[in-house]
Amino acid sequence: MRVRIHRGTQEIGGSCIELANDAGERIVVDVGRPLWAGWDEEVATPEVSGFVDADASLLGVVISHPHLDHYGLLRQVRDDVPVFVGREAAALLEAASYFSPISGRIRAAAHLEHRRPFAMGGFRITPFLNDHSAFDAYSLLIEADGRRLFYTGDIRGHGRKAAMFEELLDEPPSDVDALLMEGTHIRRDPGHDDADLEREDELEDRFVELCASTVGTVAVFGSAQNLDRLVTVYRAAKRSGRKLVIDLYGATVAAATRATIPQPGFDALRVYVPNRQRVLVKQSREFDRVERIRPHRVFLEEVAAHPERFMFHVPSSTARELIRGGALTSAGTAVWSLWDGYLRQQSGLALASLLAQHEIPMPQVHTSGHASMKDLRRLVGAIRPSRVVPIHSEAGDRYPDLFAGVDCHADGDWWEVKSA
Ligand SMILES: [Zn+2]
Ligand SMILES: [Zn+2]
Repeated sequence: MRVRIHRGTQEIGGSCIELANDAGERIVVDVGRPLWAGWDEEVATPEVSGFVDADASLLGVVISHPHLDHYGLLRQVRDDVPVFVGREAAALLEAASYFSPISGRIRAAAHLEHRRPFAMGGFRITPFLNDHSAFDAYSLLIEADGRRLFYTGDIRGHGRKAAMFEELLDEPPSDVDALLMEGTHIRRDPGHDDADLEREDELEDRFVELCASTVGTVAVFGSAQNLDRLVTVYRAAKRSGRKLVIDLYGATVAAATRATIPQPGFDALRVYVPNRQRVLVKQSREFDRVERIRPHRVFLEEVAAHPERFMFHVPSSTARELIRGGALTSAGTAVWSLWDGYLRQQSGLALASLLAQHEIPMPQVHTSGHASMKDLRRLVGAIRPSRVVPIHSEAGDRYPDLFAGVDCHADGDWWEVKSA
């Protein structure tokens, strides 16, 4: 089995891995959009034969999880290439695509299931459901020509599905020749290696404390697609005796996944329809989208009358109307619950100045979707691969200092998976 990483040996995001077996059959895992690319920026399609012009030796594409940096360039790939992705991951993207045009749909040929192997030509692929900030995310064991490669995808051990990470450590795939391991938290600065990452359930306690110390509304600005965080915020709201308000986008995405995820119909869960989404529904004339949530709908007047009874989990783009509607005042707290890098971008700076102008504090409550160095060490220790190959890291060249048996490869180079 030969492997070519098209993007990811030197950077976080935009991952794309091509694998070929001795029979000349090929599969691709992830077709990500680089994180450096702006929303409307054109990015060249990875140079995989069969992506643009037909090539029958390309058997299919597996998407590990529904984050743009892993599937964002899939729309540039021919429609007749079969795609494999988690069932709920596909449902989530389908639901999101109405609200967020950048969230493409994925027409899946078949779905990934936890530890249920399937074949594509001479390849055998076993998905492992994992813990990550994207819903329905998988690591993949890929076997061909008697060789075994394990790709972590994006993975962590401190989220709501930490038990899946522990299961992987307890029952790891055996005889792995190459471990293709993400290293988002392997940074240029070695000082970061010892960083402890907050657990998702610790965030829940911090949200509860914030609710207790806040007289007004607690407005959490987060991502509608981070369902782990939605669960965290919902649990915190319940413990605090507050109603959780999510927007129509968040409600639609949650309802598209599974019944255990907080969604319209859940106790003390309400739905707010921001201006932008109201306009979208009107323009598309899909009024049933609002009709369906009508029994659970909340208007800002109701929040403004009793802000202490509410907690929001909404996009930060709603901040201005929450303030204008009197739902978020200086008695309330805004919470930044996304990557802090966004705060240094223009929209983040504008938000900070808007909140400062209205004397609304904005603490940060967030944790990473990616494993700490400690958990990466535990993972390597459990799998005991012959070789470790860096991917999804800004400092792949540091792996040899941190793990035994590291092979660094460059983007675009073919290399052989050798047996132990
Ligand atoms: Zn990623
Ligand atoms: Zn991811």
